[in-house]
Parts: sequence; structure tokens; C-alpha cells
Amino acid sequence: MTTHATSPSQVPVGVDPTRPSIARIYGGFLGGKDVYEVDRQVMVKISSAVPEAVDIARGNRGFLNRACRFLTQTNIDQFLDCGSGLPTAENTHQIVQRYNDEARVVYIDNDPVVLAHGRALLEDNFRVRMIGADIFEPRQVLEDVTIRSVVDFAKPLVLLQVGTMHHVADDERAPEIMREYIDALAPGSYVVFSHFIDPETPELTPIAKRIENILVNGPLGAGRFRTRDEIMAMLDGLELVTPNVQDPPGLAPCDLWWPDGPRLGGISGAARCIVGAVGRKL
Ligand code: SAM
Repeated sequence: MTTHATSPSQVPVGVDPTRPSIARIYGGFLGGKDVYEVDRQVMVKISSAVPEAVDIARGNRGFLNRACRFLTQTNIDQFLDCGSGLPTAENTHQIVQRYNDEARVVYIDNDPVVLAHGRALLEDNFRVRMIGADIFEPRQVLEDVTIRSVVDFAKPLVLLQVGTMHHVADDERAPEIMREYIDALAPGSYVVFSHFIDPETPELTPIAKRIENILVNGPLGAGRFRTRDEIMAMLDGLELVTPNVQDPPGLAPCDLWWPDGPRLGGISGAARCIVGAVGRKL
């Protein structure tokens, strides 16, 4: 991992190098280079508490990629990617435009480094936009003029809330936010969703709690590992797809949501602390 120097002259405008950023930390766990010393300290804390914590980030991103590939079968050609994060090896627009070069993608984030990198990367792709907005204020997103110029909410679209809603600290507000988004979607739309989970077992709950403690009580101040019931309450109004050959429709650990192929071993305890689901608006 490369850490950037943090002297003010080397930090992009609008970025506070003394405060860790969840976008940079997550990007760092995925192997990205935009990690400052202050981010690295949080990463070391997490990895010391749970050495396999990196599996959470990798599992989450793999799920996002497979879910996007799956949804190219629907012929839906508009994607709203909330809390899109730093550009990484494969991004939503690259996956969906490989199947349909007319697919439109709006990325939304509020991290200045994400916005700077995203805009630079997307400069010459006029079907993709990078918007700065607060994704936990759905009206801000749903009424944004630029977003509405790209995405038609009267037609089915794919809404991605992947690795985002656990950053909402308020347990009552979280399902309300998802309800506002789901209510605004046309029937036939899909939601791609992932969230940290407390697996509620004596072996796995301590893993979830160790990471939650660092995230919630540290400088980031958020990162809730919610129970299955709390997560399902955020997906009300959606018909969830079957996550693999053996399970009924619902949530699955991200790594076990339609994996690309056979695994040589089982998945780690940490990898069981993040779940994904894809649901269709009825
Ligand atoms: N969705 C990507 C993925 O799953 O690979 C990135 C997930 S990353 C863990 C969470 C992202 O949400 C970060 O890029 C962060 O900046 C963004 N985020 C957090 N709170 C936000 C807010 N209130 N408004 C917009 N973006 C936010």
C-alpha cells in the first residue's frame, strides 16, 4: 500500500488530510493507492483486530461486479450508483457498457477525492456522470437536475446501495432512507444492496463487534453491523432474487452470492460479516 504524504500542498483542494475517509480506506483495502497516513492508521487498527477484514472489502466489490453482470440480462439501461467509491479495477459503467454501450450510469458520492478521480476518469464518456450529493438525503438525489437529465425515474432503473447504508448511524432512519428510494422507483426496477451484518452466532458476532467498535467509536464515527431482521427491513417492497443454487430468495454473504466458480476453501469469518441482495421492485 502506498501512503500519500499529507503536507497541505500535496493534497487536493477540499480534502482534509487529518481526517480519515471511508472511501480511501475501503479503496486501500481493495489495493488502491489513495491512502493517507491517517487512513493507514485506521486500516492497521482494523487488520490488527481482525486480520481477515480485507475479505469484507473484496467480497463486497466482487458482489457488486457480479450483480451488475447479472442485471445486464434485464435490458435496463440506467444505473444510479450511490456511494460509488474511488474508481477501482472494474467499475459499474465498464461492466454494463460492455454489454450495452448505450447504458447510462450516474455515480454519486460526497468524498472530494472520489469526485476528483471520478470526473477525471469519466471526462470523455458522455453517458456517465459523477455527482456530488448526500446519498442519505434521498430527496437531494431524486430531485437533482443533472441526475434527472440522465436518469428517467418513470422507467425501470438499477439502484445501487452497495456498502453504503451501514454508514447511517441512526437505526430508525436507515430503513426510512431505503423506503424513500424504493418508493421513487418504477416497478420492474432493481436494487443492488450490501450491508455489514452481525451474523448473530457466538463465533461470528465478536468479529463483527470488533470492527464495529473501531468504526463507530473511532474518527470515522459510523459502520453498523446490523442483524438480518434490521437489514431485511431496508428491503421492504422488493422481491429478492435467489442468491445461489441452494438457498431461498434473500440475503447471502457477498462471497456466496452467485460466485464465479468453485472455491478451494471455505470463506473466512470476516467474509460472513457482509451480506448482499438483489431485489426487484414489485
Ligand atoms: N459502493 C462502492 C462499493 O461497494 O464498492 C463503495 C463503497 S464505500 C465502502 C462507501 C462509499 O460511500 C464511499 O465512497 C463514501 O465516500 C460514500 N459515502 C458515505 N457517506 C456518503 C454520503 N452521505 N453521501 C454520499 N456518499 C457517501
